[in-house]
Amino acid sequence: MKYDYLIVGAGLFGATFAHLARKQGKRCLVIDKRPHAGGNIYCEDIEGINVHKYGAHIFHTSDREVWDFVNSIVPFNRYTNCPVAQAPDGKLYNLPFNMNTFYRMWGVKTPAEAQAKLDEQRHEAVERMKADGIAEPRNLEEQALTLIGKDIYEQLIKGYTEKQWGRKCTELPAFIIRRLPVRMIFDNNYFNDAYQGIPIGGYNRLIDGLLDGIEVKLDADFFADRCHWESVADKIVFTGKIDEYYGYRFGRLEYRTVRFETEILDNPNYQGNAVVNHTSADVPYTRVIEHKHFESFGNAVYDNPKTVISREYSTEWTDGMEPFYPVNDARNQAVYEQYQALAEQETSVIFGGRLAEYKYYDMAPIVAQVLNLFK
Ligand code: FAD
Repeated sequence: MKYDYLIVGAGLFGATFAHLARKQGKRCLVIDKRPHAGGNIYCEDIEGINVHKYGAHIFHTSDREVWDFVNSIVPFNRYTNCPVAQAPDGKLYNLPFNMNTFYRMWGVKTPAEAQAKLDEQRHEAVERMKADGIAEPRNLEEQALTLIGKDIYEQLIKGYTEKQWGRKCTELPAFIIRRLPVRMIFDNNYFNDAYQGIPIGGYNRLIDGLLDGIEVKLDADFFADRCHWESVADKIVFTGKIDEYYGYRFGRLEYRTVRFETEILDNPNYQGNAVVNHTSADVPYTRVIEHKHFESFGNAVYDNPKTVISREYSTEWTDGMEPFYPVNDARNQAVYEQYQALAEQETSVIFGGRLAEYKYYDMAPIVAQVLNLFK
């Protein structure tokens, strides 16, 4: 055996694992079937702009250890995610729902005025349901109306949610929206975490830093030569799809995915913000990302006369597409649990990351999980 660990997948899980194992003097080989390392956080340089090829990624955490660790690999900038929504009424609203949103929608200027308006709208929704003989919200639409009222639901939730799920809100279960947090302050910061940002110079710096000094083989699919790869190391760290690892013997796990339409524009500043949500059902895409705003601030935006935007289309997943979001419904969960039972019996394979655990993870919990493994 030439290596202590064969790490399948050069994404954030695999790269962090390799980095920490190397620090302990372990010999690691990382393989990835893609032509680049980084997994879904990989960025492509287009016109000097780091384009988030697999969807916009914003690192955020309240875990000081995770923040210090990633910053020890590459310092992070001060990017703060403040998305804006283009609504069916033609207006732009700040997200998440906060005093700026309420001021734009109703002209209310104080938290008390906003609260009164929200209470009035919620009350109207509940009374309407009562009049129709409905005791409990039967679907997502009724749930949202009782939680936040008609105006915000119709302008900022309905169209977006229907595009995201590919189904009418009246056909979606109520439990998808358990609560709709509102902020009674003028604060457009999307995250509540203590720390957030983007690696200075882009995510590839983070991945390159983690993989520094480690042997990496790209365009190398574990399943294309499984016997060979299994013979090169004492242990395997597997971050690919768990159903594929077990030959789909209990069936395929399902995902939802996103299709990106990326365009270079001769315009230094197309939408003035990194993230603009389109909440109208008449616009086919859910969001437009303008990538330069993740890393250039103030007038530095104009240093590059061009910009790159990506329109995002929420799409049903079929085999061969990028598996992005696990569909954690009863059927998929039951299938996953069968694979998980097999995985728990393995003595020389560690399963980790979003595909092997069939779970949506943000980046910070992935790093935290690997740090904990090494503790
Ligand atoms: P991955 O990045 O998917 O890495 C797995 C790697 O394994 C891939 O490179 C793949 O090619 C490789 N692989 C798979 N099978 C094989 C095989 N058979 N042989 C060889 N290699 C193989 N998190 C945040 O914190 N903030 C965000 O804003 C954010 N935005 C997101 C937006 C989208 C659209 C998505 C999908 C995710 C987002 N995330 C975000 C989550 C983030 O992408 C994940 O936390 C992170 O990528 C997980 O890393 P991973 O190593 O588990 O998986």
